[in-house]
Amino acid sequence: MAAYTPMIQQYLQVKADYKDAFLFFRLGDFYEMFFDDAIKASQELEITLTSRDGGSTERIPMCGVPHHSAAQYIEQLIEKGYKVAICEQVEDPRQAKGVVKREVVQLITPGTVMEGRGLNEKENNYLASISIFADGTYGFAYNDLSTGENRVALLTGAFDEVLNELSISGAKEVVAASDFPDELQRKIRERSVVTLSIEDDTTEAEGNQHLLKNLDQPNMIQTVTRLLNYLYRTQKRSLDHLQPVVPYEIQQFMKIDYYSKRNLELTETIRSKGKKGSLLWLLDETKTAMGGRLLKQWVDRPLISREGIERRHSLVETFLTHYFERQDLREKLTEVYDLERLSGRVAFGNVNARDLVQLKRSLWQIPAIKQLMASLPNESAVTLAEQLDPCEEVTDLLERALVENPPLSLKEGNIIQDGYNEELDTYRDASRNGKSWIAQLEREEREKTGIKSLKVGYNRVFGYYIEITRANLHLLTNDQYERKQTLSNAERFITPELKEKEALILKAEEKIVELEYELFTEIRERIKEYIPNLQGLAKRISELDVLQCFATVSEERHYVKPQFSEERRIHLVDGRHPVVEKVMNAQEYVPNDCHMDNEREILLITGPNMSGKSTYMRQVALTAILAQIGCYVPAAEAVLPIFDQVFTRIGAADDLISGQSTFMVEMLEAKNAITNATASSLILFDEIGRGTSTYDGMALAQAMIEYIHDRIGAKTLFSTHYHELTILDESLPRLKNVHVSAIEQNGKVVFLHKIKEGAADKSYGIHVAQLAELPQEVITRANEILLTLEDKEVEPKQHIPTRKAVGELSDQTKPELEQLPKSEPKPNPEPSIIEDAQLSFFAELEHPKKKDKDLDSKERKVIDQLKELNLLDMTPLQAMNTLYELHKKVKS
Ligand code: ADP
Ligand code: MG
Repeated sequence: MAAYTPMIQQYLQVKADYKDAFLFFRLGDFYEMFFDDAIKASQELEITLTSRDGGSTERIPMCGVPHHSAAQYIEQLIEKGYKVAICEQVEDPRQAKGVVKREVVQLITPGTVMEGRGLNEKENNYLASISIFADGTYGFAYNDLSTGENRVALLTGAFDEVLNELSISGAKEVVAASDFPDELQRKIRERSVVTLSIEDDTTEAEGNQHLLKNLDQPNMIQTVTRLLNYLYRTQKRSLDHLQPVVPYEIQQFMKIDYYSKRNLELTETIRSKGKKGSLLWLLDETKTAMGGRLLKQWVDRPLISREGIERRHSLVETFLTHYFERQDLREKLTEVYDLERLSGRVAFGNVNARDLVQLKRSLWQIPAIKQLMASLPNESAVTLAEQLDPCEEVTDLLERALVENPPLSLKEGNIIQDGYNEELDTYRDASRNGKSWIAQLEREEREKTGIKSLKVGYNRVFGYYIEITRANLHLLTNDQYERKQTLSNAERFITPELKEKEALILKAEEKIVELEYELFTEIRERIKEYIPNLQGLAKRISELDVLQCFATVSEERHYVKPQFSEERRIHLVDGRHPVVEKVMNAQEYVPNDCHMDNEREILLITGPNMSGKSTYMRQVALTAILAQIGCYVPAAEAVLPIFDQVFTRIGAADDLISGQSTFMVEMLEAKNAITNATASSLILFDEIGRGTSTYDGMALAQAMIEYIHDRIGAKTLFSTHYHELTILDESLPRLKNVHVSAIEQNGKVVFLHKIKEGAADKSYGIHVAQLAELPQEVITRANEILLTLEDKEVEPKQHIPTRKAVGELSDQTKPELEQLPKSEPKPNPEPSIIEDAQLSFFAELEHPKKKDKDLDSKERKVIDQLKELNLLDMTPLQAMNTLYELHKKVKS
């Protein structure tokens, strides 16, 4: 260390406190990085790596970015999940003795972004904290630094609940204690939270009491305090815009777990992970950024309180019946800027004059919005109107203080209006008088000398001067002029009087810039006092925005107001899938009904591929979700229960992207649904069991249906390609068969997408192949094979074991499985490795055909190895390779 120069020593000292961040070390006009930081940053940012002498024998790797364009580099690093510590010179280099004093002034992290590209205007940017308590419960808190929003919940269930909250919040960074278990860290990382940060300090900071006023549980306070301490530690300034923490309970909202949200594509699509094509995309007719963010929050958390839902519906209804008021409101809302984030920037101290002009223009809209809302015949609308605070003092201040089009910079003047401040007016007078004196001088000197092209100019180096072209020099007789600068075709002169005025003007202008900055800071401080009012206003405006958005979408797409049934009845007439309907555009979407009640709890849906089974199931779930977020629904008539949870499970088929063993995932998801669902839940099982061989898949599907029927009683839509299951309606009284019809026209299948009562009569697979225009030879041959297979086939229905008695299911499952044939008849005597593997995993290991003693040591080893495998940690490719190795071992 001693070998390094004092500056590098200083660098190393600062860096020691910020090991997990890039240290942007201010050197003159650059931020420099050294050592490993420099090497890594030069790769990540694609900037040149250089080196410098640092006093030791070896040169030190170095790279840097100019301070004026640092923002874009910082954003790039943050987007990749890194942190950046900004280290500034904190004393004037001219006054410094030795090395200039430097300090980190802010640690920018993915969860604490305040501005720039990293901040999507229609999405919150959350930082979360997680605490683990001795009794096995968890605390979960989150904050959006840009808006000041804070929330906290205590979670008593498994860690999955924490993961769910994490994915709902979409937090980019998680703060936890240093002893946070590795296993849980791994689970968090899997949910694409990229940054994990450590904060052990949970002692309450003074001055935080107002933030904690809504909390009475020590565990909540501890979780929040961890979060706040991390914020203060990284931001190193007062954060006056932080809002009092709102405690919430996950039981207040409809529970939609991570898998279901993903499958239903509520806020992003599965394929592109983008918003386009999601339910949120369909709904987003909001006019403000704040409204856009609230809409996403509402879609993420549908309500379960009937009162809360019906309040939203009644406001949507009022907006629908008052078309002109709604249009008027929409127009006004387009003029309302992001009050929430503006308030945040006011508190943070990085608001500029243009922001404040936007604030003023936004506030101008409020009185009219207030009046408009008060005029509506709806109690909730009138209440909302009363709560809208136009913050007149702020508007008044801004109107008096700021010019209409101020520059971005606060250090150039031209921000404050004339008449706002006497002292400023005096300086401005002086400056203006000086300038008009100079204009006067120019006129006079032209007259005196007779040189028409004589002019008075200004530059930074020489100040004001009189310029005379070379051609006219001979006309000059005035000996008061003092030569100052010679140009190729002109001479520049000054006079003592000119210099005197110049001093006055420059002095005045310097004062003006200084004073304007001071006045602006004062204004900002005064507006700070109104931050809670502005935040309250922002909340109500965003709510109005989302409600008008619901009305707009409902009108455009002909949605109806749903009624709620206490008897858990579903009655949908002409229901549609909201997104598919929109995307299909001009093409005809075929509407479908759905009727379910206490006698019809499970619908078993059969029908050919591509007939519309998945679409139908999703449309029911999306309709329920739309209803419970307070929107109207895509149907002609709608009666629905209020669902506590929605589960969507898709049979794994071709989802190779996720890199997990798909059938295992399918089973884990199914388990999660079956163990958590209640009679008030909605379950969608879409071709569950498809990921394994026919008989296991069918057996599992049947066992699950029976379990739901007997033990849970949740409303369930179960689509399947196992025709054999349709016989279940004989043993399960509350299960009904429906099918999606298709007709044959000229030997081809035509999908009608229409749901009908009863089971589908055949499976149309070959017809679909024909539709796909496979060669006629293949089709004909397939038809022949099908005939022989159908001849040979033992009526599968005879193999479906019927249940003995309700309530003995768990004991029955095993013997039933064993009664099933172990494998399908295969034309190929040597089964393919994949099918073989599935059978051995699910059948042979459980119910070995060979007794253990029959196995040779090689086989036993392979089985042991199989048991050891952690399938969830393997990619499909690794699984294939492992399988290949194992296969080779037993074969050789
Ligand atoms: P399945 O699950 O039976 O294989 P899908 O639900 O995936 O079928 O539907 C296949 C395609 O059929 C969809 O992509 C959609 O384009 C179309 N489709 C589904 N339902 C309808 C409908 N009700 N009206 C019109 N087209 C539909
Ligand atoms: Mg499907």
